[in-house]
Formats: sequence, structure tokens, C-alpha cells
Amino acid sequence: MVRTRFAPSPTGFLHIGGARTALFCWAYARRHGGTFVLRIEDTDLERSTEASVKTILDSMAWLGLDWDEGPFYQMQRLDRYREVAEQLLRDGHAYWCYASREELEEMRTAQRERGEKPRYDGRWRDSTATPPAGVKPVLRFRNPLDGEVVWDDLVKGEIRFANEELDDLVILRADGVPTYNFGVVVDDLDMNITHVLRGDDHVNNTPRQINLYRAIGGALPRFGHLPMILGPDGERMSKRHGAVSCTQYRDEGFLPEAVMNYLARLGWSHGNEEVFSMQQMVEWFALDHISRSPARFDSEKLLWLNQHYLKVADLDRLAALVLPFLHERDCHPEQGGPDLRQVVDLVRPRVHLIPELADAAIYFYRQIHAHEDHIAQHLTPVTLPVLRELHSRFADCSWERGALSALFKEVMAAHGVKMGQVGVPLRVAVCGEPQTPAIDAVLELIGRDEVRRRLADTLARLGA
Ligand code: GLU
Repeated sequence: MVRTRFAPSPTGFLHIGGARTALFCWAYARRHGGTFVLRIEDTDLERSTEASVKTILDSMAWLGLDWDEGPFYQMQRLDRYREVAEQLLRDGHAYWCYASREELEEMRTAQRERGEKPRYDGRWRDSTATPPAGVKPVLRFRNPLDGEVVWDDLVKGEIRFANEELDDLVILRADGVPTYNFGVVVDDLDMNITHVLRGDDHVNNTPRQINLYRAIGGALPRFGHLPMILGPDGERMSKRHGAVSCTQYRDEGFLPEAVMNYLARLGWSHGNEEVFSMQQMVEWFALDHISRSPARFDSEKLLWLNQHYLKVADLDRLAALVLPFLHERDCHPEQGGPDLRQVVDLVRPRVHLIPELADAAIYFYRQIHAHEDHIAQHLTPVTLPVLRELHSRFADCSWERGALSALFKEVMAAHGVKMGQVGVPLRVAVCGEPQTPAIDAVLELIGRDEVRRRLADTLARLGA
């Protein structure tokens, strides 16, 4: 039975890289009818916050990454870590280390001066010295001194580390809180995790964890390390490259399905498929299609996907999503004006983000006065008489797209002008801008009375 887990540290927002890891763990569990576990690794007492836990859970809910078990909090499992630590101590796999911070600092400085890599030198490993009074020791793992740790990484293939390179890591701090490498192994064992998928910044931790598994005596999970996400300049994706937190994408007006589709393709592929639902991803998801090399974040492509999902999204849902952005723009569709769903449907083919949808919807609800340049360019002595005539003919023509379009043709013919000479001025006069979706559709939605009122207003302003 497949069991995967996502184990974020609540020290900030959910990074899109973390979201991608969560997505792959989730998809793998779903693909195999397995279980997806959520675990909050909150043992960094200085940096972990409640607010961060909340953002992470909110982000996962927004993305639709539902978990089957948890969230488990490591700080609620301290007794269990102590129990396993005592077992390791009893079995001779761990020992107390009384070296003070200053002493260790000195040791590292000396190592650096000798041109060596700083590492714990094992001074308490086999020590029979009397422990110094008043020092609270840390518990260290007795890492094997020779031999190799080898695993067949699900993404990267075979990886080897010589034990010589690994020093005796601290597993319990002096305050009894486990370090990451120890907590993660105890938890992954207790939670029967079968597949550990995580960022490849953890590759160096894995051999230490494998040694711990062996010492504790449990079945090893399979490990898969996902390559990093890079910014367009090839550096690790960070704030410099734009939004990195999931909530920021939500707040900027992305749809979760666009973000998920994008993250799914970031480092994983199914043939040339670019647009697919999470259900499709679950059907297709296989670890051998995860790329071994880092993926580059491409904001254009994400925008393109968002545009696609905006075009196909349910209109009730979109109307609800766009409403707060309209309020920010002093637009209140609930107080009158056309049905927001119809407006959204008309303007959505042109936009990439929800706030742009709001921008494109403003003039349906309140008059916007055109910029002087647009007035000068489009509301000319040639076009004003056409607008005047339209204003009066609008009074009793049938108010629907087809009839409006027929009326334009008739009035254009009578005035000997072309559509561009009517359509654009009409847009500027009624909507305040020269570019809108099909003007007959726009006018139909704004409504006869409001269109006539705005036209009269614009003509009056121009003294025409
Ligand atoms: N808490 C670790 C992190 O956020 C989890 C790493 C792992 O999945 O083992 O990086």
C-alpha cells in the first residue's frame, strides 16, 4: 500500500516549490489508491509559527491538495522521539555528547585552519571521561565509520555516500527536541511511509537518515529527490523572480487549477500534454517521467494557463471571485447594472488574471470618462453627428445584439462612414475606452437607458 507524506516546516508561507512537492506526493498516493499524510515539522521553535501553519493549510486547501491523515505535529510527539532515542542509546547506536558550543566552535576553527571540512570529531563517541557537571548533553548518533550508503533514487538513479563523509549527527538537542533528521525518520517509520518524495536539497540528509533507519530497525522507504525550481536566470527560484508563495498567486488572481496544472508540468511530463486536469494527472502520474534536471519557472506560461482556465471556468464561480476586485475599484454590481456573469463571460477571452477581469468590467457598472486623447482622436466632427443619431435611434430600436448591429449598418450607410468610424467613437463615448469586446454585445448588456444617458452626457460635455 502506497503511503506518501508532505512534511512542511511552518516557518513561512507555502513556497511554490513546496506546493509542487506536495502535489507530486499527493498525485502518487492518489494514482495508487494510497494514503497521503500531512505532517507539520515544527521543531524549529524559533522560526515556527501558528500563522505559518495556517497559511500552509489554507494554501493546500486552495490548491485542492487534500490529505488523508494528519496534520500531525512533531511537537506533540516528543515522548515518542525520546523513546526511540533511548532505544538507540541502549543499543549502542547513540551517545551523549557534553561538548560545549564554544568547544565545538574551536574545533571547527582548527579544522578550517588545517584545510579540513568542519565536522564533529567524535570526541565523546567512545569517551570514558566523567561528564562535566552542569552541562546538558545532546544525544548523537553513532554513524558507521566505514562502508557506503547506497540507494536507488526514484528520480536520480543510484546515489552513493561514503560513511567517512558523515559525522555523528545530533539527534536530540539538549532540550529534548529532536533534530530534523531524527524526527523525520521516527515519523516516516511510525507513519509507515513507503515513498519519500522531497526536494533535492535533502539529498545530503538521506544517507544519514538511511543509517538511522538501519539502527532503529525498520523497513526503508523508497526515496525520490525532486530537482529544484529555478528562476528564468537559472538561479534558484526566489522572491527576486516574482511571486513564490501560493497565497500570493491566489491574491494576484490566479485560479488554483491553473497553478496546479502549471506546477504539475514543472519537472514532470506526460508526452506533450500541457493542459490537463488533476484527475488526468492522477491517471498519468508516474515517477519515471519526473525530469532529472532542474525546471525553469516560466511566468508567461502560467499566465497563459490561467487565461485558459478563466475561459472555461464556471461563471457563478468567476463572478464571485471577481466581486472583491470590483469593490476595490468602486464598482458594485449587486446594486444594479447587468448580470455580472454575462459581463464576465463577454470580457474573459482577453484577460489573464482576475483583477484584469475586474478592470474590463468596470464600465459596465459605472461611466468612465474617456481620456482627452481618445476624445480628440475619435469624437470628431465626422463622428459626432453619427453618435447623435444613434442616441436618438436607440430610444426605440429593439435592444438586442442583432438589432443593434443592423441599426449600426443602417446609420453608417446613411452617413457614408465605415464601422471603425462608428464602433470606436461609440466605445469611447459609452465605455470611456476605444477597445472593448463586440460593441453590440457590450451595449446590449449595459442597457438602453444607461447607454443613452452616457451618450447624452458625453455629447453634452463636448457641447455637441
Ligand atoms: N520539513 C522538511 C522541509 O520542509 C521536510 C523534508 C522532508 O520531506 O523530509 O524541508
